[in-house]
Amino acid sequence: MTANIIDGKAFASGLRGRIGALVPAFVARAGRAPGLAVVLVGDDPASQVYVRSKHKATVEAGMQSFEHRLPADTSAQALLALVADLNADTCVDGILVQLPLPPHIDDKAVLAAIDPAKDVDGFHVVNAGKLAVGEQALVPCTPLGSLMLLKDVLGDLAGLHAVVIGRSNIVGKPMAQLLLQQSCTVTIAHSRTRDLPAIVRLADIVVAAVGRAEMVRGDWIKQGATVIDVGINRVPANEPGQTRLVGDVAYDECTQVAGAITPVPGGVGPMTIACLLRNTLVAAHHRAGLAAPVGL
Ligand code: NAD
Repeated sequence: MTANIIDGKAFASGLRGRIGALVPAFVARAGRAPGLAVVLVGDDPASQVYVRSKHKATVEAGMQSFEHRLPADTSAQALLALVADLNADTCVDGILVQLPLPPHIDDKAVLAAIDPAKDVDGFHVVNAGKLAVGEQALVPCTPLGSLMLLKDVLGDLAGLHAVVIGRSNIVGKPMAQLLLQQSCTVTIAHSRTRDLPAIVRLADIVVAAVGRAEMVRGDWIKQGATVIDVGINRVPANEPGQTRLVGDVAYDECTQVAGAITPVPGGVGPMTIACLLRNTLVAAHHRAGLAAPVGL
């Protein structure tokens, strides 16, 4: 058996197209475009790439992009003052503070300062709490995108056993909450889990969000299971001095057993930015007192 390769790039492109098509109707009713503010502190190269792609995607969707690049020695006080300004700015619907922040800044305090209605990353405790109790919330983009791919492949997820490997606030925990909302039976595995391969073998759905290159092996996967690989790991390539990206899943092995699998790159990654635009459009509707578009 060879797995169906889940084309996250194509799905994300379709979603971005649908979002872009909804923007003119919002502009007509609200009298302005949805606005996303992205704040980058310091010059972490990976963060710079992410921020550039977010800006490009925002503009392509017809939204306003506000970029704030601050030096690495910015004080926590100055960053919090900027967040307060963005909270008050009526043209800003979404605020994203790119993580990681420099070590002298407490990221929890910064995330807590963002207006939950503009928290398009879904990291504020108010949104995390709403997700946990099943209220309407802004949901973290990577797990939201992963869920969209799962529903696209599998349809109804009710009753399926999902094993989420990783318990971070950004991916693992919200992913587990979303799967629970879909009536999956959810197991959350983590660094202290005993006999992880045996637990993963029970799964109809495996979501790997660990940050360890190719950790999940082919013989851990139940025949026909759906595998979502969230991991992004840079490893040496065959050519000297070159690197390549791999996921948390041993892709070549797992494609022999899984029913469907996301590749890295081209799987979950593109969904994250598409879902950021989705959350910005939804936040813009709510802030303007309009019903959010259905089916996004
Ligand atoms: P994290 O470091 O915050 O969390 C990793 C989790 O993995 C922890 O909960 C830990 O308990 C668990 N873990 C560590 N070692 C383990 C082991 N040996 N066995 C089982 N569990 C183990 O990472 P994160 O922010 O959740 O990100 C996870 C991965 O997803 C990273 O590779 C990251 O780059 C990637 N990521 C991708 C996207 C995307 O857009 N595709 C977005 C966010 C994160």
